[in-house]
Amino acid sequence: MRIVDIRDELAHSRSRKYATRPLRSIDKLIVHHSGTRGGTPKSFAWHHVHARGWPGIGYHYVVSPDGVIFKTNALTTVSYHARGANLDGVGICLVGDFNRSEPTDAQMESLTGLLRLLLRHYPRARIMLHREVRGSRTSCPGLKFPTERLPR
Ligand SMILES: [Zn+2]
Repeated sequence: MRIVDIRDELAHSRSRKYATRPLRSIDKLIVHHSGTRGGTPKSFAWHHVHARGWPGIGYHYVVSPDGVIFKTNALTTVSYHARGANLDGVGICLVGDFNRSEPTDAQMESLTGLLRLLLRHYPRARIMLHREVRGSRTSCPGLKFPTERLPR
C-alpha cells in the first residue's frame, strides 16, 4: 500500500479556505467514486476549485485504478464531499464510475488497507458509502461497488 502526499501540488483557492477540526471529531469514513471514467487528483482539484468555487479538492484521499493512494487533504480539513457529514467525515474517492463498471482489485486492496489503517487511528469511526449519509441523493459510489468487500 503506497500513500503519496500530493497536497502541495493541487489547485487551491486564493481567497477561500476550508475550516479545520480536531482529529478527535472524526467518526465517519465515507467511500465515494469519482463518477468519471478517468481523472486524477489534480483534475478533480481543478474542477472543485475552478468550476465549483470550493477552497480546494473535496476529498481527503483519492485511490487510482492502479491502487496508488493519494493524500489530498489533511484529516483536520473540513472539506466538501458529503453534505451533512463533512464536519466529522473523511472522504475517500476511488477513480471510476461504478454504475458502469467495478473498481479494480488493486483499488479495493488499497481501499481496504487504508480503511483498516484509519480504523486503527479512529476506532470509533464507521465506514459508510456516500449514499448512506442521511439526506444524500446519490448512488455514489455506484451500484456496482462491492460493498461486501469492505472491512467491518
Ligand atoms: Zn460521493
